[in-house]
Amino acid sequence: MESCVFCKIIKGDIPCNKVYEDDLVFAFDDIHPMAPVHFLVVPKIHIPTLMDMLPEHANILLALCKAVQMIARNKDVAETGFRTVINCGDEGGQIVPHLHIHILGGQSLPFEKL
Ligand code: AMP
Ligand code: ZN
Repeated sequence: MESCVFCKIIKGDIPCNKVYEDDLVFAFDDIHPMAPVHFLVVPKIHIPTLMDMLPEHANILLALCKAVQMIARNKDVAETGFRTVINCGDEGGQIVPHLHIHILGGQSLPFEKL
C-alpha cells in the first residue's frame, strides 16, 4: 500500500535495522524501543489489523510465529522470556495500520501500555 510506512520499510524506501526477512515476513528493530530488545515482525503483504487476518493467511501466521522464535533466539531472549503485543485499532493503541507483532524483552517487563 502506497502510503503505508511499513510497506515502505519492506520495499526499502525507508531505512530500518532489519533483523530478518523471508518470502512472507519482515522484521526490524522498533525505532522507539520500549525495552532493551524491541523488534517488530510484520507480514510482507499489507494486512491492516489483526481483524483482517483470514483463513487464507494461515501460512503467514505460521511464518510470523516462526520468525518470532528465531529472532528471539538470536537476540538471546528465548530463555529469559519476552512479551508479544499486537495492538488492534484505535482504542487498542495501533498507530501504524499494517499488522505487526511487537516483541519486547531483555528485562523484567512492567504491565503497561506500549
Ligand atoms: P503500534 O502503536 O502498535 O501501531 O506501534 C507502531 C510501532 O512502530 C511503534 O512502536 C513505533 O515506534 C514503530 N515505528 C514507527 N515507525 C517506525 C520506523 N520507521 N522504523 C521502526 N519502527 C517504527
Ligand atoms: Zn503496509
